[in-house]
Amino acid sequence: MRRPLIAGNWKMNNNCAQSVELVSQLMTMVSDTSEVDIVVAPPFTALTSVASVLKGSSIGLAAQNIFWEEAGAFTGEIAPAMLTDVGCTHVIIGHSERRQYFKETDETVNRRLKAALKTSLIPIVCIGEALAEREDEKTLSVIERQVTEGLGGVTPDEMERIIIAYEPVWAIGTGKTATPQQAQEVHHFIRELIEKIYSERIAEQVRILYGGSVKPENSNSLMEQRDIDGALVGGASLKADSFAGIINFKK
Ligand code: PEP
Repeated sequence: MRRPLIAGNWKMNNNCAQSVELVSQLMTMVSDTSEVDIVVAPPFTALTSVASVLKGSSIGLAAQNIFWEEAGAFTGEIAPAMLTDVGCTHVIIGHSERRQYFKETDETVNRRLKAALKTSLIPIVCIGEALAEREDEKTLSVIERQVTEGLGGVTPDEMERIIIAYEPVWAIGTGKTATPQQAQEVHHFIRELIEKIYSERIAEQVRILYGGSVKPENSNSLMEQRDIDGALVGGASLKADSFAGIINFKK
């Protein structure tokens, strides 16, 4: 049985004080929740402040990106050990905004993923097709390429630690959500792909999150789908009550 996971990607929002306030409110609202894993991903500058609030809680702390080198002359980048040093448990890799605005590719996603896997971090690897690709009926081939290249060279043991987030680019921050059936079709395809590459056992245990305008009003119908194991939430994670509303969905 896969344990649901709801992760909030705060993107480039919230200074330290705002981050501390948001996570503190959230902790109060979800204090009775024990059946869902929760992760928050503040901006780099607020990780330390949020980590001190989260001390002793089961809520995970994610960075929104990671670099593959361990140290050196890479101005502006953050090394894997720097993330674990400030208390990160998870890291988001290959978010579509990184691919779109910062020219990340399946190859750089793969390098970041391998770097994360050398540490204790749990990677949340984002994949998803653009609108034009869906309209051209290329969704499944794009997903297949992103999985095979982005996860290339990952061992079965490592695969057991990885979380995949399917986020159709056309649904991110747009208010357009994939229908539960559209999302389920792609999630099922991803699980079958993992089975082909690894094994049925690994495919059955890998968690595949859905992302793209998830809010309390649509989370139940998405989460009811057999292959949807949780959500990666952007906009709706910036308010404690809407994020808590998603966390408290009924599967
Ligand atoms: C995201 O940033 O991963 C995301 C899904 O954003 P939103 O929920 O705002 O669409």
